[in-house]
Amino acid sequence: MTEIEKKINELRETLRYHSARYYNDDAPEIEDYAYDMMMRELKALEEEYPQFDTPDSPTKKVGGKADNTFESVVHSVRMESLQDAFSRDEIRDFDKRVTDAIRCPEYVVEPKIDGLSVSLEYRDGIFFRGSTRGDGDVGEDVSGNLKVIHNVPLKLNKPIPYLEVRGEVYMPKKSFERVVDRQLLNDEKPFKNPRNAAAGSLRQKDSSVTAGRGLDIFIFNIQQIEGVELNSHKQSLDYLKELGFNTVPFYTQVNNIDDALKEIDRIGEERGNLEFDIDGAVIKVDSFDQREMLGSTAKYPKWAVAFKYPPEEKQTTLKDIEIAVGRTGVLTPTAVFDSIHLAGTTVSRATLHNQDFINEKNVNIGDIITVRKAGDIIPEVLCVNEKNSEGAYVYPTVCPSCGEPVIRENDEAAIRCINSECPAQLLRNLIHFCSRDAMDIEGLGPAIIETFVDNGLISKTYDIYNLDYEKIASLEGFKETSANNIRMSVEKSKDNDLGKLIFALGIRHIGAKAGKLLADHFKDIDSIMNAPVEDILEIDGYGLVMAQSVAEYFSLASSIDLINHLKAAGVNMKSKTVVEDERFKGMTFVLTGTLPTLKRAEASKIIESFGGKTSSSVSKKTTYVLAGEEAGSKLDKANALGITIITEEEFMGMIK
Ligand code: NAD
Repeated sequence: MTEIEKKINELRETLRYHSARYYNDDAPEIEDYAYDMMMRELKALEEEYPQFDTPDSPTKKVGGKADNTFESVVHSVRMESLQDAFSRDEIRDFDKRVTDAIRCPEYVVEPKIDGLSVSLEYRDGIFFRGSTRGDGDVGEDVSGNLKVIHNVPLKLNKPIPYLEVRGEVYMPKKSFERVVDRQLLNDEKPFKNPRNAAAGSLRQKDSSVTAGRGLDIFIFNIQQIEGVELNSHKQSLDYLKELGFNTVPFYTQVNNIDDALKEIDRIGEERGNLEFDIDGAVIKVDSFDQREMLGSTAKYPKWAVAFKYPPEEKQTTLKDIEIAVGRTGVLTPTAVFDSIHLAGTTVSRATLHNQDFINEKNVNIGDIITVRKAGDIIPEVLCVNEKNSEGAYVYPTVCPSCGEPVIRENDEAAIRCINSECPAQLLRNLIHFCSRDAMDIEGLGPAIIETFVDNGLISKTYDIYNLDYEKIASLEGFKETSANNIRMSVEKSKDNDLGKLIFALGIRHIGAKAGKLLADHFKDIDSIMNAPVEDILEIDGYGLVMAQSVAEYFSLASSIDLINHLKAAGVNMKSKTVVEDERFKGMTFVLTGTLPTLKRAEASKIIESFGGKTSSSVSKKTTYVLAGEEAGSKLDKANALGITIITEEEFMGMIK
């Protein structure tokens, strides 16, 4: 295989991989611009070396594949992609190809909406099916989810016999912010951008999830129509409006390519002010007859081109670095610079990610930096052009929100504040505190907690135990009964086992099980708070990271303050696991095989209730192996190590 062939294969494989992440998983790993540039490189190689060109190359395929979550829909009119252009010269080349074939074309220029393409079908003016583009030939039937989008008309203003239109489903910027906010609050992985959010929301099994995502649609083409004669694109868009569709906004008809380019500039200038993302502008030949003469390639029509606004870069002075504390306690630095106009928006801030990024760029306040932005891409600091400062900026050692010391764990780039009472993390921590495995306060779900915080009823975790129930009863949506129910759940939670409280505190690396182990080992909160790392390490199941995390948490003044307030409110601070008979103290049991009567969980419980421990693997430290039928390798190991093996009967004898 030649070097060129190898390169071509490599590019195809990489493009296929990213195409699957983008279309099938709605989770791209690289920027669109990087993907487009790779596609161009492959195209250029295939043109230069036609002997290696193949019909299944990504350069000839419309991306996307229908998966089996939804019924398949075969598109009787192919849903094509668009050829792209990144420079004015390429737009002029497109015009040349068009004018070589037809005389005096008129063009329509419109924004290229960054969403996902769908087809909507109507019979006698009634919506009957909607589908995704898929690979252009076969898409997915997402009718149920399209129906819940407000701007998908279910009945047209005229009962035309048959109509298929094509549009772009998108997520407005405002909906996107709201959805991502919710995802972060629920510790879910947030969508990367509005396009992926739109795709992920439309391809949901449950339409009510789609309905809650605030999607919208712009219609930009008639695929098929019966009973109406239309001659041009502009005419058809005007007609679609009459039928009740939300058509692609500010489409403009022009007579020549110079005016088309002016229109592209105008849309480019506007894009930062739009309520939705666009990733370019499309130039289309207006006349349908002319379109037919021009025809299509395997992938796209020859009568249209998408101009993709390339990333723009500008230099500016870095005025400040602001540190914000996220809801998870991570400190993130933001570069604040003299505003510049980039990719249609005024930009004066960009993320600096973390200390490693700052060190790598060697960036500090006062430096002249280059900032880059492409349409929907968040602005980024590319490099330092002129160094006017000493070395790289260094993070503060205390949290800017609460003033407690911050920490950096060995394996992490992030620097974080671990104070659970930090105001920046309050809402997230409160939700965790009240959740089922934590303090289990029924009635205090995320939305209600948010309302209470907004109304000033809670500003510290311990305020949960000092709520003003009269005020709650007077809030919109609440009554005396609902306030009383909350009061009862709050009161009930005071009696929880200490293990639940430990988990509720949200100490890093300490889950529900670890919380219980800690509580059972030390028995009360004061012993835990005073325990040195070595003592915590004695707990079976605790490693150094966990033990240090506990000690670090209780070294904070704010943690001590929280515990004192909770104590004063009457919250239980003792472990409720009472071991009166400690006959198995210091012993470790390993259970293996099927026991004649006892379930393994029952046997474990009995062992623990007598102060013993269970482990899943046999070692020298094992005291007994309790073996049932079909015991496997554990039994062999126990024999090899000379560990005493007991039957259920013998075990029952031990606990009599
Ligand atoms: P495309 O997005 O470049 O263009 C075609 C699409 O534009 C059509 O399907 C249509 O739905 C849409 N469109 C929006 N407004 C329109 C309008 N007014 N008129 C006509 N069409 C309009 O092509 P594509 O094949 O859908 O996808 C390629 C795009 O996806 C590229 O931008 C690429 O960067 C991106 N992509 C990114 C990755 C990644 O990993 N980041 C992977 C695969 C694809």
